Amino acid sequence: MPSILISNAKVLREGKLASGNILVADGRIRSVTDKKLPNADETVDAKGRIVIPGLVDGHAHVYDPAFTYREDFTSGTSAAAAGGVSTVVEMILTTPVDSPDRVRVKIEEGRRSSIIDFSLHAGMMNLNNLANIKPISELGVRSFKTFTCKPYYSDDHTLMSLMRETSMNHSILDVHAEDEAVANENLQRLQAAGRKDPMAHEEWKPNLAEELAVKKLIRFAYGAGARVHVSHLSTREGVEAIRKAKRGGVKITAETCPHYLTFTRKDMKKQGPYLKMNPSLKGPKDVDALWQGLRNGTIDIVTSEHAPGTRAEKEPGWTDIWKAWGGLPAIETMLPVLLSEGVNKHRLTLATLQNVCCENPARIFGFYPRKGVIRKGADADLVIVDLKLKRKVTAADLHQKVDWTPYEGWMMKGWPVLTMKRGEIVFQDGEVLAKPGSAEFLPMNL
Ligand SMILES: [Zn+2]
Repeated sequence: MPSILISNAKVLREGKLASGNILVADGRIRSVTDKKLPNADETVDAKGRIVIPGLVDGHAHVYDPAFTYREDFTSGTSAAAAGGVSTVVEMILTTPVDSPDRVRVKIEEGRRSSIIDFSLHAGMMNLNNLANIKPISELGVRSFKTFTCKPYYSDDHTLMSLMRETSMNHSILDVHAEDEAVANENLQRLQAAGRKDPMAHEEWKPNLAEELAVKKLIRFAYGAGARVHVSHLSTREGVEAIRKAKRGGVKITAETCPHYLTFTRKDMKKQGPYLKMNPSLKGPKDVDALWQGLRNGTIDIVTSEHAPGTRAEKEPGWTDIWKAWGGLPAIETMLPVLLSEGVNKHRLTLATLQNVCCENPARIFGFYPRKGVIRKGADADLVIVDLKLKRKVTAADLHQKVDWTPYEGWMMKGWPVLTMKRGEIVFQDGEVLAKPGSAEFLPMNL
């Protein structure tokens, strides 16, 4: 593999942007310095633009064998690379990944088809596959997904058992946190009233559902001494509960996603079923609380929660929202959203963006310091970012399989222009250059 010199770059050093040259050889960062470096086989002139570590997306649905018409490892990771993501942690959709054999099959598929490095979450966990946590963790998959609500509801007994088992096996319990009783009570009311409009979905699981579930997880995690990670936080109440829990020493971490930072339930009036997702969108105060939670460290990471569905799976939702797929494409627009709506609008500093998109997810899922940092010895997973580049989002430019995006027509300021994975340029100037076959499975070192 040729050595590459990235010259004339700006990199964050101790919180400040400084000029830097980065030498990459054998897939790793060999040197980061403001001094002149000897020539390499190739030179990439960053032209004074910023270089950040490749993003580590801790929650994306890029491959379910039952739904490859929506996305597969190659298309999903191509979209990822074009969005500055160089590591993805694949999340189960409906096909179970809950036994060592199923984990092995998925690892093989990733090695064959992904174009960026990857890891896996296992799930959906329950009492029937509890005993598989140990052998799965021994394969390096140490994040186990469960739900506090349907369709993968775990009751309290199950949650406690899962926490005990994951804890004993140096693993994380990753939880979709919405309270089933609240959801169920609302569902019955909405169904009795014959509600099928898009807004009915927003009423189904209000803020209270997340608040109750998050608080319960905190109590259980505290009791079990377990490491719990809350998926896709969407409410002010959830942020507040986690802030207090962290202060009290509970080993809880949380993520939010670009859509919860950019849309409210009002946007559902215009985009209808295309903004159907779980948890559902909330209000402007929640959006503010999520940005603030990222700034003050309450929310540890941003994940894409990429879960595209086709138009055919979304359209029926205009007349019956319960029939529409819940999820949206997000992996390629995540970084532009955070640069444009975050950094360029002064809601996030570049340092915070690097923390929540690169270093923190690498730490939480056990890839640090190989991933998530620009430092000598780390994998050369790098992204050149043009903070001033303005471009309108259109689905036609994106690399995902589905032909729509909720950001269609948005003018974004700040885009990745080059993505490198272990020293290989996988994306440059709008084009995905990598072929599948060189992706590595990343065991979680926890
Ligand atoms: Zn998900």
